[in-house]
Amino acid sequence: MRILVVGGGYVGMYTALRLQRKLKPELRRGEAEIVVISPDPYMTYQPFLPEAAAGSISPRHVVVPLRRVLDHCRIVVGEVTAIDHAERTASFTTLATDEQGSGPLDLAYDELVLAPGSVSRTLPIPGLADHGIGFKTVEEAIGLRNHVIEQMDIASSTRDPAVRDAALTFVFVGGGYAGVEALGELEDMARYAARYYHNIKPGDMKWILVEASGRILPEVGEEMGKYTVRELRRRNIDVRLETRLDTCEDRVAVLSDGARFPTRTVVWTAGVKPSPLLAATDLPLTERGRLRCTPSLTVDGAPHAWAAGDAAAVPDVTAEQPGAECAPNAQHAVRQAKVLGDNIAASLRDKPLQEYRHKYVGSVASLGLHKGVAHVYGRKLKGYPAWFMHRVYHLSRVPTVNRKSRVLAEWTLSGLFKREIVSLGSLEHPRAEFELAAGGGRPKES
Ligand SMILES: Cc1cc2nc3c(=O)[nH]c(=O)nc-3n(C[C@H](O)[C@H](O)[C@H](O)COP(=O)(O)OP(=O)(O)OC[C@H]3O[C@@H](n4cnc5c(N)ncnc54)[C@H](O)[C@@H]3O)c2cc1C
Repeated sequence: MRILVVGGGYVGMYTALRLQRKLKPELRRGEAEIVVISPDPYMTYQPFLPEAAAGSISPRHVVVPLRRVLDHCRIVVGEVTAIDHAERTASFTTLATDEQGSGPLDLAYDELVLAPGSVSRTLPIPGLADHGIGFKTVEEAIGLRNHVIEQMDIASSTRDPAVRDAALTFVFVGGGYAGVEALGELEDMARYAARYYHNIKPGDMKWILVEASGRILPEVGEEMGKYTVRELRRRNIDVRLETRLDTCEDRVAVLSDGARFPTRTVVWTAGVKPSPLLAATDLPLTERGRLRCTPSLTVDGAPHAWAAGDAAAVPDVTAEQPGAECAPNAQHAVRQAKVLGDNIAASLRDKPLQEYRHKYVGSVASLGLHKGVAHVYGRKLKGYPAWFMHRVYHLSRVPTVNRKSRVLAEWTLSGLFKREIVSLGSLEHPRAEFELAAGGGRPKES
């Protein structure tokens, strides 16, 4: 009996964790095997990415090593490229197959858990693919942090006002929690960092949030969303509602309201779409490209296929309107994974399956150090109490005691000492210095 888990994110990791507990006797006797295939050997706790970008948490503590947590599973670092569920076979590539150019390998399975999550939903906006930066991975979060500080270094060292202006203009597109939290945390960090630059004042920087709809942070409700707009504007952040990014060619962001901003930073957080892997399977998809699932988290009409999280359209049985689906967020993903693990174990033992049932309880968002907004269990909080709640909530949620302790230690230390304001952008080109020393010439900037 081989259970194949595709994806090592929220759903993949928590499902495999649940399964390795529930199937302990079978795993010990060698009657079952759990294989997890994921491009990274770690699970990313995405709600901490904005704090990682701000430097409040180090990047290593935002991720959870799969091999350590899933010590009774087989972890394969690779990418599933196609699934033939009729034949119960998955094709996947690894770093080794990529290097050898040997093409994908095949793996047969008995039960499939498909949890590849989502990818950034981009639009064919001229210049976006060349200049946009996403905010879904730890690499992007740290890259963005380094980039922002580097822009301050550029602005501080140039005499050209146009270069300085573009370097100090930061455009964020998309007003969901990823965009708002990333902007809130980075603006706060840059404002703090400005005190160490002799020629940059916080007022010299332009931070712009572009949102196509008439509100931001829908996750915290209308009233708290309006508060967030007021709060960001009070911080001199230019929030533009009902506005779209039209182009960002030649490092100029042009908005649908006619505004033009020369800028070297366009952060794209305008929503997600299901992983493209789903289109390379023979499993049923909804119009929006998510896997059509039942409330028991099986893929509709596909025995032995299971799914949850961002990739799955799971009926929201608590909703009043018929046909509603669970939103793509961590709150559902974590809870679905538990039901999913239990249901697979139950089905293997011929026991009845349970339905996934969870009513969305609201959300918390950080807007920078000591600033936040929350609407959970009907309670609305803003400012410091909301920020504190955000930290307590996520500390309780981040997996493993090891990670909880490290994050708590970092928060405690950052309360005692000054914030880190260095850019380690050169980490992205570790061979540059050596190539120069070896006479290869200065490498071109990417
Ligand atoms: C910046 C940010 C902040 C967020 N904050 C919150 C928050 O405060 N509250 C909240 O509820 N939600 C939040 N979310 C959303 C939440 O993180 C997602 O809803 C959740 O991660 C979904 O879980 P998942 O397992 O479906 O996908 P993921 O956690 O994204 O996991 C998908 C996994 O599949 C892997 N994968 C992808 N393609 C393949 C392939 N072809 N083969 C094998 N593996 C593959 C990926 O590498 C990844 O490991 C946030 C998201 C972001 C980006």
